[in-house]
Amino acid sequence: MLTLSDVTVRFGSGPGARSALDAVDLEIAEHEIVCVLGPSGSGKSTLLRVVAGLQRPDGGRALLDGADQAAVPVHRRGVGLMFQDHQLFPQRDVAGNVAFGLRMRGASRGEQSARVAELLDLVGLPGAGPRAVAALSGGEQQRVALARALAPRPRLLMLDEPLGQLDRGLRERLVVELRGLFGRLGTTVLAVTHDQGEAFALADRVVVMRDGRIAQTGTPLEVWQRPASAFVARFLGFDN
Ligand code: ATP
Ligand code: MG
Repeated sequence: MLTLSDVTVRFGSGPGARSALDAVDLEIAEHEIVCVLGPSGSGKSTLLRVVAGLQRPDGGRALLDGADQAAVPVHRRGVGLMFQDHQLFPQRDVAGNVAFGLRMRGASRGEQSARVAELLDLVGLPGAGPRAVAALSGGEQQRVALARALAPRPRLLMLDEPLGQLDRGLRERLVVELRGLFGRLGTTVLAVTHDQGEAFALADRVVVMRDGRIAQTGTPLEVWQRPASAFVARFLGFDN
């Protein structure tokens, strides 16, 4: 479904230039949940930006269903995005936030309200449509952001540190819920996280990045049992 081939992104020029992504190859199959792990600065967010068509690669291509993301107009890219600072619109109520992408696509009022109700049920906030977003807890806001990202039925949902601001207990509960939700919807997911426990609980497959390259990819169990390098082992918290 998603194919990255030889994707390179460079920032700066001359001797100060560095590659945020360095010849990255990655395939994601339909319905797969893939988590990208890696230290700060390893290129995780840049990878998502390339897939979303927000960052044009200096080399290589990102193809979603065979279409080059850099060449597809924004509203046809078929990807949903949710960032760490989920940036709900504070002046709109919950329903207004969730319906945002639907309105942009010209859905009728009736379609919008039916879809909003369905999504709020899905994320465990039934009836929350008229509530002010400022009055919601962090976890509730995160669910609203998720409902907003899911509203246009993206082929591929991308999450950048989606649970970043939540406390550990809530993160652990939400990860389990999300995994069930994505399974039921059949959503293909590409998620970035710093948190190895979160990645291992959510993912069918993890991708470990280092300095703009993929250090290892495999199922959580494979990566856990057989780290491909000393770097991966250290990153996973093994002493040697
Ligand atoms: P974090 O875990 O801190 O979010 P990350 O893995 O998401 O890190 P990226 O944001 O993808 O890392 O950045 C990868 C590298 O590219 C870093 O060295 C970063 O400084 C650099 N970089 C990213 N965006 C830009 C930019 N717009 N201009 C210059 N350098 C950039
Ligand atoms: Mg990042």
